[in-house]
Amino acid sequence: MRAVYLFKRDLRLEDNKGLAYASRRHKEILPLFIFDKEILKDLRAEDERLSYVVRALEELSKRIRVYCLYDTTEEALRKVFSVYKPTHLYTTKSYSWTGKERNLRIKNLCKDYGVEYVEIFENFLVKPEDVPTRRVFTPFYGEWIKGVILEEEKVDGFSVPYVPLPTIEEIRQKLPLKGFSSFDPLDCKKRLESFPFERYEELRNFPAIDGSSKLSPCIRFGILSVREIFKRAKDRSEQFIRELAWREFWYHIAFNFPQTKDLEFQEKRRGIEWENREDYIRSFFEGITGYPIVDAGIRQLKKEKWLHNRMRMILASFLTKVLLVDWRIGEAFFKEHLLDYDEVVNVGNWQWSASVGADPKPFRLFNPILQAKRYDPDCEYIKRYLPEISHLPCSILTDPLNHQLPYHKPIVNYYERISKAKGLYMFK
Ligand SMILES: Cc1cc2nc3c(=O)[nH]c(=O)nc-3n(C[C@H](O)[C@H](O)[C@H](O)COP(=O)(O)OP(=O)(O)OC[C@H]3O[C@@H](n4cnc5c(N)ncnc54)[C@H](O)[C@@H]3O)c2cc1C
Repeated sequence: MRAVYLFKRDLRLEDNKGLAYASRRHKEILPLFIFDKEILKDLRAEDERLSYVVRALEELSKRIRVYCLYDTTEEALRKVFSVYKPTHLYTTKSYSWTGKERNLRIKNLCKDYGVEYVEIFENFLVKPEDVPTRRVFTPFYGEWIKGVILEEEKVDGFSVPYVPLPTIEEIRQKLPLKGFSSFDPLDCKKRLESFPFERYEELRNFPAIDGSSKLSPCIRFGILSVREIFKRAKDRSEQFIRELAWREFWYHIAFNFPQTKDLEFQEKRRGIEWENREDYIRSFFEGITGYPIVDAGIRQLKKEKWLHNRMRMILASFLTKVLLVDWRIGEAFFKEHLLDYDEVVNVGNWQWSASVGADPKPFRLFNPILQAKRYDPDCEYIKRYLPEISHLPCSILTDPLNHQLPYHKPIVNYYERISKAKGLYMFK
């Protein structure tokens, strides 16, 4: 019996249910990661996600030999199957739209080659299908928290065969690797151990403060197990646990309402006539809307490939409800830039911010003037990302409509646009 273990969003050896399961059944396992050319072709040449994954695999490779192929998933697997002739292939179950589709292709290929395909549940605290269908977060949370499973599964010792396939050192040169992420998977553990969960609720809303965990890339790529994170936070911050639940809520929604990948969750909000003005979209993407808090957010996103949650909400709300741009355009923009990009979570949150998604509140407002005053009271955040106007008093920076800033003129008047948005939403 020869097994392949295909790593995906679980780039770790500790508390890895998929690998643990395979290791209980096989003495020899070929660990594999595929840099799928089809997926990589859509990324920018300098995409930091690639360097982040490479770094994670280099770390893994210090402990076990991981074979890494750079090809389409099908071609890579054909190569592995012909070289190693496995009897089984193990990998984690996927709940994202593209992940499910990829797993199906892998399963079909295994069938063609007579390889037994095994999917293991991992990366979530509760199976999305185990929570009774809920359309609203709070009742979801009540059910979800009851189902959390924290049992750890130890990976048994196994040997790795020597086969003529490349490892990360050999493949590194071939990858279109240009960008380097400011996030390092090696920091995940340290961050988890030192993060003051007790202060999370108090600090998490202020983008200038290092008050949120910044664990999103560690979760996205499975550098840490969600169980380990949950255990650390439990009894220290219920609010933090709720955030972990938000992630799973969006998977629950995607599982029960798969059409929401492209369609608004709220049927009544389908078919809104978005303006989609190119000049507005360009100003937003370039961070020159004339609203300092918005432009600072765009700068952070492009520079650091990560954005504070409050800023994500302000940006998404501004693009959709103030500039009247289709949420799908914003979703694609975040997809291009976010290191922690997760299609299910991103789509869910964009729809939520645009008030077209799973949210009982009919029309959520994030007034950039009030948001800046409340959550960036000393303009520390604005000044950090817009140093060219950092000499100005904060009262001016937060209120561009009532002051002439030596800066880009506001492209629209927030208040006029919001009343237009309300009209569009109500009478589409
Ligand atoms: C428009 C928009 C798009 C987003 N796109 C993504 C995305 O592509 N990938 C992504 O991981 N998160 C996304 N989020 C959710 C959230 O902003 C990030 O998870 C969070 O900012 C990451 O920082 P953190 O790790 O410091 O979060 P913390 O505040 O420390 O939270 C801990 C963890 O909980 C989860 N979490 C927190 N908030 C949310 C939320 N609103 N929805 C789902 N999970 C959450 C994340 O896994 C996060 O790492 C988006 C939010 C908005 C408003």
